[in-house]
Amino acid sequence: MDELEDAWFALRTGIKIGVSLPHLAADALAAGFDSPALRELAALGVRDDLEARRLLPVALTELGHSLEPQTDAWGELFPWEESRARSGLGSRIWRTGELFPWEESRARFEPDLVARTEQALTIVQRDLDETEAGLGRLTLHWSGEYGEDGEPQLLIGFGGEPHRGGGNPAECLDGADLPHRVLSLAENVQECVMEMFQFYWPTCARHRRGLHLPDWDWDGVGWPVWRCRAEGGHAVAPIGGLRKEPPVS
Ligand SMILES: [Zn+2]
Repeated sequence: MDELEDAWFALRTGIKIGVSLPHLAADALAAGFDSPALRELAALGVRDDLEARRLLPVALTELGHSLEPQTDAWGELFPWEESRARSGLGSRIWRTGELFPWEESRARFEPDLVARTEQALTIVQRDLDETEAGLGRLTLHWSGEYGEDGEPQLLIGFGGEPHRGGGNPAECLDGADLPHRVLSLAENVQECVMEMFQFYWPTCARHRRGLHLPDWDWDGVGWPVWRCRAEGGHAVAPIGGLRKEPPVS
């Protein structure tokens, strides 16, 4: 149980944790703790990272834990952050270096890449606008470097403020065709919203749960879809096709 609480405080401060939340939840169940969200958390797979992070505070609250930081926990967690920081050269550049706004750098890139990227931006922005997440304009930022695939390393941000990542550097945008570009952008937005703003985006209007994107090894057939996993799972909308929730009366 203490491990789950420590994990929560680490995530709260933007630190990526090196432990599996479902494993910790299973350990807690085995130790005799029990709550609906804890059971749900324990049943998640390794790729349900965002869902796990959403469920963690719910489980802790159900189990009567306070989610206010404890000073001793904070003091112990910060050295951990440093030891976990990734040290790849590329990532060091965007952790600390200057980033160039997309508008100023786009003229350097292949027209195909520019078209694909800007279409993807429009599509994902539409979902953000429709869900009234209040996050403003999605922006892109170039690290000044190119990746191994020869494509520019692009990071996302909001309102011109790039997201460089929390404990680990943010992932660069990828996607060699439009559906994969859109998927990559939507994934980056989910990650960024979780880290910068501490909430889950987007959610299912019916079940009030976070929506999921296809896994990284998605076969690329058709168009990526937002799915809810509640009640056996259901498709909510294609990316770019989310609709406003009806007003609560
Ligand atoms: Zn649902």
